[in-house]
Amino acid sequence: MNLKSMTQPEIGAVLKELGQPAFRAKQVYSWLHKGVRSYDEMTNLPKGLRDVLSEKYPIHPPKVVRKQESSRDGTIKYLWELCDGNCVETVLMRYHYGNTVCISTQVGCRMGCAFCASTIGGRVRSLEPYEMLDEVLFTQVDSGLPISHIVLMGIGEPLDNFDNVMRFLELVNSEDGMNISMRHISLSTCGLVPKIDELAQKKLQISLAISLHGPNNEIRDKIMPVNKAYPIEVLLEACRRYYAATSRRIHFEYAMIDGVNDSKECARELLKRLKGLPAHVNLIPLNHVEESPLKPSSKAAVAAFQKTLEDGGVTATVRRTLGGDIDASCGQLRRKYTKEKE
Ligand code: SAH
Repeated sequence: MNLKSMTQPEIGAVLKELGQPAFRAKQVYSWLHKGVRSYDEMTNLPKGLRDVLSEKYPIHPPKVVRKQESSRDGTIKYLWELCDGNCVETVLMRYHYGNTVCISTQVGCRMGCAFCASTIGGRVRSLEPYEMLDEVLFTQVDSGLPISHIVLMGIGEPLDNFDNVMRFLELVNSEDGMNISMRHISLSTCGLVPKIDELAQKKLQISLAISLHGPNNEIRDKIMPVNKAYPIEVLLEACRRYYAATSRRIHFEYAMIDGVNDSKECARELLKRLKGLPAHVNLIPLNHVEESPLKPSSKAAVAAFQKTLEDGGVTATVRRTLGGDIDASCGQLRRKYTKEKE
């Protein structure tokens, strides 16, 4: 296991084996969570220990292979190369409430959503806890901007990499690490019901976002294969259980696709579905993906949809699109880069 995927007590055990005193665990842990690129930066460690650690536990910092900065809103998108040559994306968005990183949780994705660029080449592998942590750490180090919020909405399905994601959350939340509050972290899922139940049992203070994108099985079946395994009524029952267990309001993401899910009837049906569930709907104008025939809804359709929801008593916001000039939506940059290499 990479040292940075370990908790502080686990690092303590490794160091004890190496004959080190207990206080070293905190030193090593803190340095690793500052985003050092080499053990030689750990200036308060004896040289001998630094050498042993770099031999046994290489740090493997990711390399920046592409970096694009939006001239409109300061959004920065990174394409990182991991130690095995695979690439993932991280996006840094500058919101008024704090700098937010959107991180990837897998290399590719196997969920197969029709509108999403991340899933086109399938899933290559899941990310290790330290690789997710590195996305946050090295984005902060490279940009020089302090990061206060994280969304797990990049490439991959976080609940398809459950254990590693849970460990990542524990690490990034730790006091001697980045100490990012659970309340500042959002996890988005396309709807893996058993894993939503497992997550509910952890009773974390994170925000849960559900990618709904349709008010019924007919529409969801067409654009989200996961709906065949976990139909909408089963998914929403899991959301009710999640709310009962955590008292956390649920966010529903709804990408507005022209002629597919954006009619007034759809909005009314969605209202009925969400009845009695403390919810917030986030309407996202579809980002056009080259390989897909799906098109974004018109501004008028989005506004009308939002009004129907609001009139029915469900809070609905339209997500501001950031980084539109830099391919800053899920999987687009990695996709482009992979195509160029082919
Ligand atoms: N796998 C997780 C998280 C990653 S995607 C999930 O499905 O929730 C983050 C969000 O972006 C999801 O709601 C996803 O459905 C949405 N998304 C993917 N491609 C999109 C596109 N082309 N336009 C708008 N939203 C998109």
